[in-house]
Amino acid sequence: MMKFIVNNVKNGCRHGYLQDFKRCSGVKDLVVETPMCLMYTRGGSVPHLTGDVLKKVDNIPKMTQLPLNLLAEHKGAIGMVAGGLGGFCSLDEGSVLYCPIHDTTTAVPSGYNGNIGVGIWGRGGKIMLDIDTFLQVQEALRVDFYQAMSDNDVDERSGKKRLKKSHDRTINFLDRTLERHQKSEKLKDTEIFGTVVGGFSEEDRIFSAKETAERPVAGFVLDGFHRYGPESENFDVQHHRDLIKVTTDNLPKDKPRIMHGLWSPDMVLSGVECGIDIFDSSYTYIVTERGSALVFDYDFQKYDKEKSLPAENGNSDTCTRPFEINLKEKKYFDDFSPLLEGCTCYTCRNHTKSYVSHLLNTTELLAGVLLQIHNFHQYFHFFSSLRESLREDKFDDLKALIQQQKR
Ligand SMILES: [Zn+2]
Repeated sequence: MMKFIVNNVKNGCRHGYLQDFKRCSGVKDLVVETPMCLMYTRGGSVPHLTGDVLKKVDNIPKMTQLPLNLLAEHKGAIGMVAGGLGGFCSLDEGSVLYCPIHDTTTAVPSGYNGNIGVGIWGRGGKIMLDIDTFLQVQEALRVDFYQAMSDNDVDERSGKKRLKKSHDRTINFLDRTLERHQKSEKLKDTEIFGTVVGGFSEEDRIFSAKETAERPVAGFVLDGFHRYGPESENFDVQHHRDLIKVTTDNLPKDKPRIMHGLWSPDMVLSGVECGIDIFDSSYTYIVTERGSALVFDYDFQKYDKEKSLPAENGNSDTCTRPFEINLKEKKYFDDFSPLLEGCTCYTCRNHTKSYVSHLLNTTELLAGVLLQIHNFHQYFHFFSSLRESLREDKFDDLKALIQQQKR
């Protein structure tokens, strides 16, 4: 089983290392430092960027997320390629592959889960995923680890009965998956992450965490806090801190935890404080799609507690969101500065706000390419900074710096 070594825990924040991936066992010294973000892909490719353009981005995460809903329809073709999904998509052999059930940027409609399976949405519409189909898809994909199916279709209004059904079904899916998985020769190098559900009830979260922890899984996915898609941005992680915390407190310390949809920098830091280790970078795609660039400052080494940031720092827009600027705004038409002063990404080294703004207004595809490059760069470096802050015991400085930019 993949190994997770917790190097240090302080105020709930875990700094650790993931290693011993069976599928990637040929890749020497492959170690993933956490907290980390997954490389976001849809259907096996990074949105907007070809493989060659992706090489212009540095600090790329060693773990890639490949959502099952966009791949299930192609299981026949993928299964015929040596090396499964990694071979099909020509992914770097040093890349650890993870398959979640849903694409995190697209909202999942409610009302399609049952005792037999769950509803997922591919490009051709709804697919009912039962255990047999699910395992067939996984045998074709052959990733390093996948998320077990779950009935996560609950919300804050769900009653006791619905919550019980949700975790009973989820555990039942997991047991049946484990049974099939353990017999499969094709899945001998693949591991399972159990899905923890329980909605917004502490009792049900604890129950689901404990039950899942008793199974031979390599890690956990905390699910059922939202229905994915852009709405995830509105999830009030601060408000639900105790609930997330009590869930992770009931999980074994030596296995990693994933939570999807903790996107903005302040949400990520709150997640880290609740004991989450793995996040996803799909936020950069959401930001790119609305024509925005991430411009927040994560350089905690230069942070001065005594001096608050000037109002003009980073984001001076009053009408947009924190941490980003929207290049569709008129004021950027004739702004010849880079997207973010001092940024070393390909876009900022070669282009201006004015140019990206022009590309957006003429709906040129290059706008998405340039924004995605910058947003990836900014987000990946933020995660490097986060790990550095934990190594150097300066997490509080980073947190204060990020809080200051949240308006
Ligand atoms: Zn840049």
